[in-house]
Amino acid sequence: MSEPYNPIEIEEKWQARWAREGTNSFTEQELREAERPFYNLMMFPYPSAEGLHVGNMYAFTGADIYGRFHRLQGDDVFEPIGFDAFGIHSENFALKVGTHPMELIPRNIANFTRQLKRIGAMYDWNHTIDTTDPKYYKWTQWIFLQLYKAGLAQKKEAPVNWCPGCHTVLANEQVIAGECERCGTAVEQRFLSQWFFLITKYAQRLLDNLSWIDWSETTKKAQENWIGRSEGAEIRFRVTSPWQAQPGSPGAEALEHAVARHADEFEKMDRQERASTTFVQDLYIDVFTTRPDTIFGATFMVLAPENDLVDWITTPEQRRAVDEYRNAIAAMDVVTRKKTDKEKTGVFTGAYAHNPATGEDIPVWVADYVLMDYGTGAIMAVPAHDERDFEFATKFGLPIRRVVAGPGDNADTPLATAYVGEGTIVNSGIFDGMDWRDAKRAVIEWLEQNGHGRRRVNYRLHDWCISRQRYWGPPIPIIYCDACGTVPVPEDQLPVELPYVEDYKPDESGVSPLARVESWYRVPCPNCGRDARRETDVSDTFLDSAWYFLRYPSTAYDNVPFDPELTRKWLPVDMYIGGEEHAVLHLLYSRFITMVLKDMGYLDFEEPYKRFRKHGLLIKEGAKMSKSRGNVVVPDQYIQHWGADTFRTYLMFLGPYQEGGDFRDKGLQGPYGFLKRLWDSIVPVDQLGSDKPSGDIEQKLHATIRKVTEDISELRYNTAIAAMMEYLNAVRENNRQANRAELEPLVPLVAPFAPHLAEELWERLGHSTSIFSGNNWPTFDPVIATADTVEFVVQVNGRVRARIPMPRGISQDDAQVAALKEENVRRYVDGGTIRKIVFVPDKLLNLVVA
Ligand SMILES: [Zn+2]
Ligand SMILES: [Zn+2]
Repeated sequence: MSEPYNPIEIEEKWQARWAREGTNSFTEQELREAERPFYNLMMFPYPSAEGLHVGNMYAFTGADIYGRFHRLQGDDVFEPIGFDAFGIHSENFALKVGTHPMELIPRNIANFTRQLKRIGAMYDWNHTIDTTDPKYYKWTQWIFLQLYKAGLAQKKEAPVNWCPGCHTVLANEQVIAGECERCGTAVEQRFLSQWFFLITKYAQRLLDNLSWIDWSETTKKAQENWIGRSEGAEIRFRVTSPWQAQPGSPGAEALEHAVARHADEFEKMDRQERASTTFVQDLYIDVFTTRPDTIFGATFMVLAPENDLVDWITTPEQRRAVDEYRNAIAAMDVVTRKKTDKEKTGVFTGAYAHNPATGEDIPVWVADYVLMDYGTGAIMAVPAHDERDFEFATKFGLPIRRVVAGPGDNADTPLATAYVGEGTIVNSGIFDGMDWRDAKRAVIEWLEQNGHGRRRVNYRLHDWCISRQRYWGPPIPIIYCDACGTVPVPEDQLPVELPYVEDYKPDESGVSPLARVESWYRVPCPNCGRDARRETDVSDTFLDSAWYFLRYPSTAYDNVPFDPELTRKWLPVDMYIGGEEHAVLHLLYSRFITMVLKDMGYLDFEEPYKRFRKHGLLIKEGAKMSKSRGNVVVPDQYIQHWGADTFRTYLMFLGPYQEGGDFRDKGLQGPYGFLKRLWDSIVPVDQLGSDKPSGDIEQKLHATIRKVTEDISELRYNTAIAAMMEYLNAVRENNRQANRAELEPLVPLVAPFAPHLAEELWERLGHSTSIFSGNNWPTFDPVIATADTVEFVVQVNGRVRARIPMPRGISQDDAQVAALKEENVRRYVDGGTIRKIVFVPDKLLNLVVA
């Protein structure tokens, strides 16, 4: 009777040994001397009170496997972990349970650390980060100051997203479909003075680099869409109001009213300028359009209700109606406002503007479907070729003129709805007959030549609002002095420590709880020494995480944010794995901060992550995991029962890592059985016979090594595990006695997934050092590996459903039989009839099913 597999005992033994011998951590000297540095990074967790979620565990395990795989190939793999512990989430929880975050967070971190150690990832606990540690956020504040010095941090009045639930402003990226991504409350728009990072200055570069960085395609696409570059033209329409402000007329009164609102601008003019300014005659409405080719179809204009121009142009007759409309819109919440399917509303201003192409005076309306935050807050409406303009024109009886003819249409074909497709330009004077793309270029040229507009690129990306009216974050290192104005805190006075505040609850006031702590915010001005006042807002938690990867190798040094020599050696990050929900938040912000630091000479690279791969998401027994459903998988209980090795292997086996999968309790049995069988096959070491693999096993072994190697490097963990299982089954078929040469190579192959078991087996096989301490990854001979097996791509209706190894030269019939044994193929064939089979010998089988 052989010794039973006891995962709990083995795992405890190896975790203790790894900690004792520093197997997974670098000394400072090792970090400097590493010959084959490989920086393997995963998104650090926010340490919630609930403990490590299975979602974290899934992400981390997949990342750890990749790191261990590189290490087994002889790389010096640096795999740090830390805690993203500032932010509203932690603070809200602290408020809920009535424990101060300064007490709660260290407790959560201790719990997370315990759990992270239990899963057997090879974290370097010598180099860890807690963003709430003043030693860390000192440098977060330093980064703010660098941006401030570079003119990239500005305080400006702007419409911002205010979450009434969290009592703070949010970045655009934190508003999902009009709701707060944290608490789900409908977000309001407020006009507040806030700190912004001018990320828009980097919009083009952030976009351009997407063409060469090696990232998951969907993540790149998400960034591209978020940056939202569009090419078009800015076009000027001269306002030709009917009233033209005769002195003493009601119009002049309206004009005075408008001037009063624009007192600042008026103030800046000298006397002569003021005297010669006939505001109304000089008024223009600038619009941005991506379709300048449709300018002949612009039959009216629409301004956003918030657009100041409304004050200037509204005629006295229309003023009351316009005011009422604007007030009604101002009272509306953003979610309702931004709904695209609601009925169009609006009001005529009484004013007209001159369409430079047609020479017509077209009416100017105010309507809430035009927003201030894209382009100029004004549009030229082309109802024939824009759905919203079409609805609006139909409702208010405004003219609709076709200027693009689709296939089969002519200039007079009536429109039942907006035509938004491609076509030929019609009803457009000299541009008639052109393809719309050519017309776009030609119209822009014509506009530029005649002074009516210019080519322009527009971005959807907005500046990053980084100030938060909350307590739990690093104070923004700025001091306000009546004499000197805005004064940055001198770098040698960093960190500006977050004080312990008993009452840190946020309120409706729009200022941070720190504004209630006079003893903290009253300070002498660093310039003149007079009484001054600290900025009381704290910075966004996404600033903490926008640079953390730079800090890990340098955690031993308090005099620099990141040591130049270590940074050159270890950065940029070689592999980064994380959730795609951060595509336009963390992943975009950290790229931006890296570019800025490069431009300032602190870094010699501008993209922080050489390779980024997103992981998929888990569901539980077919349903989304959530606390309210009570089906959240708590990793601890599974690990206690099955061991970390089985749990890790199962997580990676339940689906393609980059797509996620369905966690099923009974699913753990399979991976457990595999590990146990491996144990049972190897542990009676002295019974393992001859040292040469038998003939047909040898081919299988090489093919398996190749498949596992290729699969892991592409994060296809589930198929790598399946290949190992299949190999072990073949080796032990009918309880065949396997020999050492057939079994030993499986140990390093399985090591990334089941590191404790692999260490134990490695030791029992007579090795005296850790399996992870040298280049122990097995090699394969491609000739032997391919000898008689080829990988068939099996498609159903042209879509790849499986890749199956089959004997070289297999017949079409046999290949079909083999293919139909695959569950994933059968699933798509079942219920249909195979109408046609495409067979490419040794390569492809396509089943056409109807
Ligand atoms: Zn909220
Ligand atoms: Zn001063």
